[in-house]
Amino acid sequence: MRHFPLFADLRGQRVLVVGGGEVAERKARLLLEAGARVELVAPELTEWLQHLNSAAMADGWRSRREGSVRWLASEFDAAQLDGAAVAVAATNDPALNARVAATARERHVLVNVVDDAELSTFIVPAIVDRSPLVIAISSGGVAPVLARHVRERLESLLDESLGTLAGLLQRWRERIKRALPDLAARRRFYATVVRGPIAASLRRRQTEAAERALAQLLEQPEREVRGSVALVGAGPGDPGLLTLNALRALQDADVILHDRLVSGEVLKLARRDAQQIAVGKAARAQSVPQERIHQLMLEHARAGRRVVRLKGGDPFVFGRGGEELEFLAANGIPFEVVPGITAALACGAYAGVPLTHRDHSQSLRLVTAQCGESIDTLDWVALAQERQTVAFYMGVAGLATIGERLRRHGRDTTTPVAIIENGSRPDQRVTLATLDALEDLAARGGIHSPALLVVGEVAAFAGRLHWFGDEPRVWEALRRVA
Ligand code: SAH
Repeated sequence: MRHFPLFADLRGQRVLVVGGGEVAERKARLLLEAGARVELVAPELTEWLQHLNSAAMADGWRSRREGSVRWLASEFDAAQLDGAAVAVAATNDPALNARVAATARERHVLVNVVDDAELSTFIVPAIVDRSPLVIAISSGGVAPVLARHVRERLESLLDESLGTLAGLLQRWRERIKRALPDLAARRRFYATVVRGPIAASLRRRQTEAAERALAQLLEQPEREVRGSVALVGAGPGDPGLLTLNALRALQDADVILHDRLVSGEVLKLARRDAQQIAVGKAARAQSVPQERIHQLMLEHARAGRRVVRLKGGDPFVFGRGGEELEFLAANGIPFEVVPGITAALACGAYAGVPLTHRDHSQSLRLVTAQCGESIDTLDWVALAQERQTVAFYMGVAGLATIGERLRRHGRDTTTPVAIIENGSRPDQRVTLATLDALEDLAARGGIHSPALLVVGEVAAFAGRLHWFGDEPRVWEALRRVA
């Protein structure tokens, strides 16, 4: 290790920054956040630095004040380093930067030359700021791009509420120490706080509940801790369509109960040692009864585990998410919900079908076409209206019926339709046709689930706006019309 990592307390300390451009400004911003008294040496300052300097001047240079900016001089001079805690050289003049570095070294002032680790006696890491928790990443100045890459990965993995958690622990630190003098017991306590329901409360932005739970846990640290369930939308298949919260939940899970629709690529992003249980439901195929899914969630949560109930698309769109949460609520299991990109949105986007359009469609309906007698309980008169988009979920077995009902209720036979199979996945297939071709398509089109049927004028856009995967297949009946 070439550099010794340290976090410096610069509150109220003088920091000399030589340079007044963009780079100097970026350093000054960070130093200000740490409460340093920044003194600038430069012939010119950026607008923002000038503004801060004027503000401090108007304030009468109350020199003790933390986090201030002062324009000291336009030319660098060795004496400016006297009494500085550290110095930063951030000019675009390499000779000047080198002179600042050499002078600072002579005077035993730590110096950073921006983007020059060789000349520097300290380097500034990339940071992930969840104050008071701060993560610093350094490649020793040899590969700053790599350090930034790692920083971005961490940014996406660490929930924003982590800072609140660190703040909470800071406030309770003394009380925790007094209540749990034994170090091992204290460690166990902290582990429970960080991984358990207190952190989960903070993710739900319920700070008071978190504080109450912390007090309770401190009274009975050995009490068994309940787990929780996150109902998470996994999106349509492309793992890039997961939300950051979904990714965090997957990386944090002890147990994952997933549907068949959830793609393997998404599951690969889960924590390695999480237990994965397929509770898939596929039309006609063998599936785990809903009752059993409820029981599994309950068992694992009661055993103190963090359960992720992972569903294709969005959990509240034809996903029985409501029923599952009612069950959890009735059993006093804490839960959170992470929405996902539902099939209609994903298929629209990936097939080049704008679901609404000023000239063609003013509303969008999401409809389940799960076949059986229930199909006739749908309001076909409403569904057959013009200038709207209707997205049918679970419609593969009912394609012919849907086409027939819509026409019978007045939808034009030439209304464009698009069928998107495996939307957003590598094997996506889009078929374009007109309403009168649905029976033919059902009989000869070889359409397989999961597939979404989009009915409406906007479906025709897929021919022109296609950008993902194979070209759309244009069904014969449509060609005849064209
Ligand atoms: N909760 C899910 C829907 C579950 S119902 C969501 O919000 O998307 C299952 C139906 O969703 C399938 O029968 C199909 O109509 C549709 N579906 C889900 N994923 C799909 C995909 N990748 N491509 C096309 N249709 C999909």
